[in-house]
Amino acid sequence: MVDYDVVIVGAGLGGLTTGSLCAMKGLKTLVLEQSDLIGGCCSTFEQDGYYFDVGASIVELVRPIEMAFERMGKNLNDYIDLIPCDPIYSFITPEGERFTIPLDMEETNEVIRKMAPEDYESWMKFSQFGMWLLQYALEALVTSDLNTFTKALPLILKYHKLYKIIPYFLKNHETVVKKAFSNRNMLASVSFQSFFVGAPPYLASGVFGLIALSEHLGIFYPRSGMIAIPRGIMLAGQEFGLEVRTNALVDRFIVENRAAKGVVLADGSEITARAVVSNLNGKVTYLKMVGPEHLPAWAFKAVNSYQNSVPCPMIYVGLDTKPHLNAHHTIITGTVEFMNEVWEKYYTKGIIPTKALSLICWPTEADPDLAPKGHHILSWIYNAPAPYSPVGANWDNIKDRYGEMALRELEKYALPDARDHLTKLIVSTPLDFERRLLHPEGGIYGLFTDITSLAMFRMRNRSKAIENLYLSGASTHFGGGVPTSVASGVVTADLIASDLKL
Ligand SMILES: Cc1cc2nc3c(=O)[nH]c(=O)nc-3n(C[C@H](O)[C@H](O)[C@H](O)COP(=O)(O)OP(=O)(O)OC[C@H]3O[C@@H](n4cnc5c(N)ncnc54)[C@H](O)[C@@H]3O)c2cc1C
Repeated sequence: MVDYDVVIVGAGLGGLTTGSLCAMKGLKTLVLEQSDLIGGCCSTFEQDGYYFDVGASIVELVRPIEMAFERMGKNLNDYIDLIPCDPIYSFITPEGERFTIPLDMEETNEVIRKMAPEDYESWMKFSQFGMWLLQYALEALVTSDLNTFTKALPLILKYHKLYKIIPYFLKNHETVVKKAFSNRNMLASVSFQSFFVGAPPYLASGVFGLIALSEHLGIFYPRSGMIAIPRGIMLAGQEFGLEVRTNALVDRFIVENRAAKGVVLADGSEITARAVVSNLNGKVTYLKMVGPEHLPAWAFKAVNSYQNSVPCPMIYVGLDTKPHLNAHHTIITGTVEFMNEVWEKYYTKGIIPTKALSLICWPTEADPDLAPKGHHILSWIYNAPAPYSPVGANWDNIKDRYGEMALRELEKYALPDARDHLTKLIVSTPLDFERRLLHPEGGIYGLFTDITSLAMFRMRNRSKAIENLYLSGASTHFGGGVPTSVASGVVTADLIASDLKL
């Protein structure tokens, strides 16, 4: 007799989605979360009346989340109140020019006509074809099992026009956008999105060049903060009997004869299950939770070939006045070459850049209740990516200096007299992030996502090396992201249901 059908380690989006869908299928399912909060990177914490998001600050491509609810026979809108954001973002160039991109495509076309007249025709072609491709591919690919070529093949036969996306997958982001555009502001506006998957434009897959378009399908901020998304998924699952335990740190998996049998918690207690799901970083899953001694040599080698995703420092700001911003997201960016250079000359050499990509998120524009009346909050990815182990420095010692640098940027871009209105300033370094979520090296997206680590080249949802072991979340295909982690959770639940012969 086992304690549960399914035990899931980690109450991130992937873990909770798999958990809720397994519970819906009648499986006795338990999710174990080490933190006192659910949601992992997509969560919200409270401090002195301010509600700050841990990481994720927006959701786009909500279709996979809708699909997860539909599979439970439920409606997303009954569980999560998604507030549309328009404009979708503003971006500030190195010269200090600010361009604002509205949700409406026709209005965006006009912005582009003025910003980059020489690229207008290309933009029209790129956006019309790209929008069609995105929607087609989304329906076909997102919640499909792409773990092996044999799984992918029938999909390609069913959705035969998918071959049109292959060139995007195979080229890098920089090549895709440079083929279409030449104006430097235009290029900047469609390139920084590669960092949304944690890679510079020359390393990210060209498919992420389509993110600049996907945002026009709608971007949303959930009322009550990003935690509302995992909470909604959890509540739906709890109606089918899903159990979720917080403050439950798992120390390792029980593995016998290359099969997962359950988990051992940090307090020494054991929970047995027919299927064990890891919502953790893929390397932690195999190298710590399973343990190298249980891995065949090929698996050990394969796991070690993956790199962790990039870390990025966050600044959480409380203000007693409204910031001078005009969009939910304001991105302070540079040219494509600058973004590649930050990676090559700073990040890979362990140097903290004095200037990199910053994304200022203004959640109280969408939901004023996230701060005391009249106050505002900003959650801010500041100068990313930054190395986990900076040469000659320790994040704990340079926190104040880093906060001061951020404050100067805040004065420059969001509020000239910021210091007179500052009521809270929390600096979260890669070390803090690692301590909060146990993400190794403070990596924000599980494993690194470059062209070579998508689809069947990413870690599988059903482990090949260890029987009864499954993975869900950012370390599996399609990698980091709110909708993609939910989609991964759906794929994993399907695999478990089929393996347990439901
Ligand atoms: C700074 C930042 C900004 C982002 N911005 C966006 C955005 O705007 N839009 C977007 O779509 N995506 C964004 N993302 C990505 C997105 O939030 C994540 O990819 C996604 O939420 C990851 O979900 P997951 O299922 O992989 O689980 P995770 O969020 O990684 O959760 C894993 C959970 O496992 C728990 N855990 C770890 N170890 C143990 C253990 N031993 N025992 C028990 N529990 C354990 C952790 O506490 C955590 O709760 C952002 C991420 C970050 C970090």
